[in-house]
Amino acid sequence: MIDKSSPPDIIRSKIVGVTFGDTLPSGESERQWVLGKMAQFEIVNLELIRDPNNEYDKDAIAVYAMLPGFGKKQVGHIRNSDRLCNDCGLEYSKKTGVTVCEKCGKVLARNGLATELSRWIAQGYSYVADVMEYTGGNGRTRGCNIEIRRIS
Ligand SMILES: [Zn+2]
Repeated sequence: MIDKSSPPDIIRSKIVGVTFGDTLPSGESERQWVLGKMAQFEIVNLELIRDPNNEYDKDAIAVYAMLPGFGKKQVGHIRNSDRLCNDCGLEYSKKTGVTVCEKCGKVLARNGLATELSRWIAQGYSYVADVMEYTGGNGRTRGCNIEIRRIS
């Protein structure tokens, strides 16, 4: 019998809120500075920490990186505005109106990625994230594509 409640193993996404948060005395966004350092240090492993006291979203999940010499710094959050296929981990934008996974045919969760992940984490599963690609830099807004991986 197929266990339909099993959480996805791998989900590809991108970190959001990378220009929000504190501003450095230089006027630069702290999270943009963190992303620059991450790219410089070639950081790969990221930590995901639930942020239930977040004023905008009780299901928020913050993304942190350990920067040598600077400690643990927040980079942004996991996206929470799209629909998710819990079977194969694909995300779809609400704007497309897609309600069924185009890959596996399952009905999409009417929740964003962070809400679904929060639910799985609350059930005892653990997730980390790995950097797939750094984007931007050289005057353009920095970003980061990630692969969220279930580790238990
Ligand atoms: Zn699917």
